[in-house]
Amino acid sequence: MLKKMIEEIEEITKLAQQEIKEVKNQDLLEKWRIKFLGRKSILSKLFSTISNLSIEEKKEIGKKLNETKNLLVQLYEETKKKIEKVKTKYNFTFPGKPFSIGKLHIITKVIDEIVQIFYKMGFGVAEGPEIETDYYNFTALNTPEEHPARDIWDTFYIKKEKGILLRTHTSPVQIRVMGKYKPPLRIIAPGKCFRRDAFDSSHSPVFHQIEGLMVDKDIKFTHLKGVLSYFLQEFFKEEIKIIFSPSYFPFTEPSAEVSISCVICNGRGCSTCGNTGFLEILGCGMVHPNVFRIVGYDPEVYTGFAFGMGVERLAMLKYEIDDIRYFYLNNLKFLGQF
Ligand SMILES: [Zn+2]
Repeated sequence: MLKKMIEEIEEITKLAQQEIKEVKNQDLLEKWRIKFLGRKSILSKLFSTISNLSIEEKKEIGKKLNETKNLLVQLYEETKKKIEKVKTKYNFTFPGKPFSIGKLHIITKVIDEIVQIFYKMGFGVAEGPEIETDYYNFTALNTPEEHPARDIWDTFYIKKEKGILLRTHTSPVQIRVMGKYKPPLRIIAPGKCFRRDAFDSSHSPVFHQIEGLMVDKDIKFTHLKGVLSYFLQEFFKEEIKIIFSPSYFPFTEPSAEVSISCVICNGRGCSTCGNTGFLEILGCGMVHPNVFRIVGYDPEVYTGFAFGMGVERLAMLKYEIDDIRYFYLNNLKFLGQF
């Protein structure tokens, strides 16, 4: 009887030690506990049979049973700790680390918005080189050498003696397009421009412009007004007043400057509009007959209009950004907002 009981206890210990190796989670651990340490376990049954034994046997078996029980409890506690450690190491209920995906730069987005509006009016997109020649940047735009208007633009020259420069505006794209295609034409040309300006809250040596050009028979100033009015209403998505006032550009005649009622204060007057209630927003005009002659269009047959606007200026007004430098400083907190 005694020998049989000891064998049984040893067998249970072996089995319990073997099975605990497979316990990998709380549920399995609880099942193991019930099987080996629960009220209906073999160990419990053996404890209850002790009373039938002699005092000597009781002493021996009792000791053995208690040792076994302590061993199993120890196994249980150790395994429980292990499971909890794994659980805190891999807690699947914790919120994940944010995964940031890239997005388009605000300037790229605003260019896309502008292109989409003109696209609806039948304008296609044209592009030209950022490194230009004196001819395309000035001469062909009715601004020959010694023309005082050249001083308007502080130009970055790459090789001055060869007339190679960084374009000061997107207008040379007009010349390149007209040199290549015959009218009717309807294009916009977005791109980078360069001027020797300070880098301050409203200037940057690199900035973006969008040039527009429409040429056909019978194009009048009213077409220009219609196209720009539609564009500005669509872009700012609000009712704005538009003023065309006389201006001067060598490559347009007549030339105009377009102002809109201030989108920040709705025309009441604020620091952005210098309390005038209006903001100058772009330059435009009817293409100068000299420009048509240079590209080989007959100014007696064709007329057209052109305009140029600063992308940063439009973006600053639409999104109420008060410093142009934000666009270029690669501050992800700023750029991530758009
Ligand atoms: Zn204002």
